[in-house]
Amino acid sequence: MHELGVAQQIVAEVARQAPDQKISEVGVEVGVLSGVVVHALQYGFGVAKLGTLLEEATLTVATGLRQAECANCKTEFQSDQAWSCCPQCQSDRVKFRGGDDVRLLFIEVVE
Ligand SMILES: [Zn+2]
Repeated sequence: MHELGVAQQIVAEVARQAPDQKISEVGVEVGVLSGVVVHALQYGFGVAKLGTLLEEATLTVATGLRQAECANCKTEFQSDQAWSCCPQCQSDRVKFRGGDDVRLLFIEVVE
C-alpha cells in the first residue's frame, strides 16, 4: 500500500523536525495528482504513528491544487485538473506545476 509508505515518511519527517517532542497534530498537503488516497493515508498514519511520539497526533489533510499560468494572457490560476484551458482567454498555452506531491505544512507540539 503506497499510502502507508507516505505516512511513514511523514512520521519520520516530523520526528526529524521536532525531535523528542510529543505531537498533537500534523498538517499535510496532498496534491490532487499525487495519487494518494486521503482516507488510506489517514489509515496509514494511524498505523505508522504507533509507538512513536506522534501516537496521539491527528492528521489534518489539505488539498494541494496545481498552479497554472497562461502563456497568452498571463492569468494565474489554480486547478484540480492535470490540465485545462485558460479560464480567461481559453488559450491552450497554459503551464502547470505542482499538485503532484505530499508536503508537510505544520506540526503542533503538545505543550
Ligand atoms: Zn489566458
